[in-house]
Amino acid sequence: MSDDSIPQLRGYDDASLDRAFASLTADLERGAGSLNGADAVEQFRLEWLGRKHGRLKTVSEAWLKTAPPEARRPLGQRFNGLKERIEALLTDAAAGKHRAATGAAIDVTLPGTRPQLGAEHPIVRTWHEAVRIFAAMGYSVGTGPEVETDYYNFESLNFPPNHPARDTQDTLVVVGQERKPLRDRLLMRTHTSPVQIRTMEQQPPPIRLVIPGKVHRNDAADATHSPIFHQVEGLCVDEGITFGDLKGTLDHAMKAFFGSSVKTRFFPSFFPFTEPSADVQISCIFCGGKGCRKCKHSGWIELLGCGMVDPAIFGFVRQKQPAYDPEKISGFAFGMGLDRIAMMKYGISDIGLLFSGDVRFLEQFA
Ligand SMILES: [Zn+2]
Repeated sequence: MSDDSIPQLRGYDDASLDRAFASLTADLERGAGSLNGADAVEQFRLEWLGRKHGRLKTVSEAWLKTAPPEARRPLGQRFNGLKERIEALLTDAAAGKHRAATGAAIDVTLPGTRPQLGAEHPIVRTWHEAVRIFAAMGYSVGTGPEVETDYYNFESLNFPPNHPARDTQDTLVVVGQERKPLRDRLLMRTHTSPVQIRTMEQQPPPIRLVIPGKVHRNDAADATHSPIFHQVEGLCVDEGITFGDLKGTLDHAMKAFFGSSVKTRFFPSFFPFTEPSADVQISCIFCGGKGCRKCKHSGWIELLGCGMVDPAIFGFVRQKQPAYDPEKISGFAFGMGLDRIAMMKYGISDIGLLFSGDVRFLEQFA
């Protein structure tokens, strides 16, 4: 028996069966490409599954009934595979019809789905604010690598090998560096200060640079410590820069950060890369200086370290930029913790919250 609607079956061996069913499947997929509308779907169903003249019926009559016993199983498997494919295509077409029907009946009175808007992380916001404040005073932004050499992180900043000040910065070092000379060994930068040296090596004075960035120390995490935190540093180098310029700049910056009523005061301190060095306190932003729990009833909060650039630093730079002559130029540098400022500004009590990625915490700042 033969029928024009199905291909000719040349034999019951696997190759002939495959060829015949491949031809049927190709027809099927072609037909399924134009299932637009209920009429087309019904016609497609009748063409393949119709009880009297459907192609599957024809295949069953022409091939299955006359198949030798050993071919029934391979033929039946292919037949069932084809039938499943037809049914799947019809189910898909029905689902598409359903989608179209729903789309046509949009209820415009239903509330829409509101996409969730992102927001700046409190650290990023504080970072941008610091950059804005110093950019307004003519500072440009400097960046540098977080994986640094011992030379840029320590030696060039006047921390000679075995200097005790190195111990105050618990350093995370990169493994497998022992064979290199100390100055070339890699570590996670413990401060943003290497960018000061890198920038001065690249350009002669004058320099007005603000350096925000991520730093790393081997600190155990608690409410006020994290192995990752952020600093913002500043560097100003030119002829005739004085400690008065440093005080005026930081006083202005703190007023811009915390409000014009904030006062600053300076105390002697020590850093290897500045001389003289100072710690800066601001009047308590919570009590206005009267004394409260946050300022331990002193009325002041310690916030920054700063000082005049030690002439020895210019000595390190001078090898690459002769213009850094300590006899002719001077400068100041300062640094503060961005995380600490963000915590103060936004009343965050645990630094770990800034890095936990908890959306419930972060969405407060949206
Ligand atoms: Zn206070």
